[in-house]
Amino acid sequence: MDHFLYRDGDLFAEDVSVAEIAAEVGTPFYLYSTATLERHFRLFDEALDGIDHLVCYAMKAASNQAILKTLAACGAGMDVVSGGEYARAKAAGVSGDKIVFSGVGKTIDEIETALSGGIRQFNVESEPEMEAINAVALRLGVVAPITIRVNPDVDAKTHAKIATGKSENKFGIPISRAREVYAHAASLAGLKIVGIDVHIGSQLTELEPFELAYNKVAELTEMLRADGHEIKRLDLGGGLGIPYTRSNEAPPLPVEYGAMIKKTLGHLGCEIEIEPGRLIAGNAGIMVSKVIYVKEGEDRKFMIVDAAMNDLIRPAMYEAHHDIVPVSEAEAGVEQVSYDIVGPVCESGDTFAKSRLMPPVVAGDLIAFRSAGAYGAVMSSEYNSRPLIPEVLVKDGDFAVIRKRPSVEEMIDRDDVPDWF
Ligand SMILES: *Cc1c(COP(=O)(O)O)cnc(C)c1O
Repeated sequence: MDHFLYRDGDLFAEDVSVAEIAAEVGTPFYLYSTATLERHFRLFDEALDGIDHLVCYAMKAASNQAILKTLAACGAGMDVVSGGEYARAKAAGVSGDKIVFSGVGKTIDEIETALSGGIRQFNVESEPEMEAINAVALRLGVVAPITIRVNPDVDAKTHAKIATGKSENKFGIPISRAREVYAHAASLAGLKIVGIDVHIGSQLTELEPFELAYNKVAELTEMLRADGHEIKRLDLGGGLGIPYTRSNEAPPLPVEYGAMIKKTLGHLGCEIEIEPGRLIAGNAGIMVSKVIYVKEGEDRKFMIVDAAMNDLIRPAMYEAHHDIVPVSEAEAGVEQVSYDIVGPVCESGDTFAKSRLMPPVVAGDLIAFRSAGAYGAVMSSEYNSRPLIPEVLVKDGDFAVIRKRPSVEEMIDRDDVPDWF
């Protein structure tokens, strides 16, 4: 459920008309709903009711300061994957003891920043990285709390580019080597083992792969405890999928996911961390765009819109489907038209949808890409010298631009011309 609904035929975000925002901000832009962000966070928080837990929002999904502040105010921790994200989380007022640091390539600088600024735990992804964190901690005279990310060799049954839990993926250490690596970690004076971490992929639409992985983690917890390690915390990663279409079968709900976690891991008495990103932000955001032209091809109609693959890359990158709807609802009973919906970028890959049935549109009409809140704005670029599009946040009857559109001049001014010209 989200808060982008039609009222008398006009699309609203909470209590604000999308067309009104478009008139003020210009198109294209991203638009997020505070109520939806809060609702999705609470669904996870409540799903883990009854066990000690922390929901750490995977901020790579959407990392605008206003979004982070919205979620932090609900009690969210943050899962960060770079020094930049760590700094963003801190800037949004999240304290270090609520930030977990994931990712396979943490640099010495990033490790130092996090250790100095405070960190709940590093999710360690390799032995060389473990040695590096140990060395930095010893140099700073602190002890680094760590989990080790294990790769359970489970098929997440999702798109290959976002599957992370198979042995051929670059993530974590093979679960078969976990005891050996934990023994190594325990021998390093700069580290303190606090638990185990696992994350098998994104946009999972079934619970089964999670359950397979979590059962392996349960077994490993018992083994590591028998080896004398203190395992008090289990970080279970993110990855629960969202419905990208209204017609498809919906993925499991957070409450079902939470029940499965309690069933597979509840008996261990561990604190549970989860790192949802997509489910919190995905359906809390839309991208609004304007039709520039409708062009008659030989055997098809092209709807050419002012947003492009540089603004929303998911269709080009993951063959992702986004529902695309008119901002002004069509009259009931109007006949649908088949469009190829494309942006202006000079690549055939700049195609949002092929043969998509929509009510007829004309130049100037507004359309909305649904489910664009996660992995949307954060993955945008200025390809084709198209300035990054703004982000707007709605709360009840108010809206605010939370990242403004840079001017073309600002974009050009970021280049430096050497003095030999
Ligand atoms: C990307 C990622 C997440 C979030 O995944 P979602 O599918 O957005 O929930 C969580 N943890 C780690 C380590 C990740 O890399």
